[in-house]
Amino acid sequence: MAVTRPFWETKSLSEMSVAEWESLCDGCGLCCLIRFEDEDTGDIVPTRVACRLFDSEACRCTNYGERRRHVPDCIQLTPHNIDALPWMPASCAYRRLHEGKGLAAWHPLVTGERSSVHEAGVSVRGQTINESCLARPDDALDFIARDLLRDRSGG
Ligand code: SF4
Ligand code: SF4
Repeated sequence: MAVTRPFWETKSLSEMSVAEWESLCDGCGLCCLIRFEDEDTGDIVPTRVACRLFDSEACRCTNYGERRRHVPDCIQLTPHNIDALPWMPASCAYRRLHEGKGLAAWHPLVTGERSSVHEAGVSVRGQTINESCLARPDDALDFIARDLLRDRSGG
């Protein structure tokens, strides 16, 4: 019997439909964190402070459809700008496919369970504070968490 390979194994990122593209997001929430550039090294350093539209417990954007109207600097990821976003986490499905690595074993499309990204310890669910809780934007510097962007992709 012929085995049908999933779309992420047979299509390039630019060949995917909108629905396929959107389904690749594993829901880790790592790209919704406030980041700073280290002046000495040029490294992009994440904090535990998340965008004001991010729901920490649900680990998702609360207004994804209109997010760019409310947060103009929210990154619109495309097959063509991944190279220009080196701070995207190594675990990010878009980055992994762009680098020819395939999806991780814990990815929801592989497991069939949305919660597998959380159970694998890759997401930031329940670990962030909302930027709206800060008195000043620079207060996010008090919550630098370099470990959040270490390679936790595993599988
Ligand atoms: S880092 Fe990638 S996989 Fe994770 S939420 Fe952002 S776009 Fe989705
Ligand atoms: S607008 Fe939504 S998708 Fe964009 S960074 Fe904020 S929470 Fe994340």
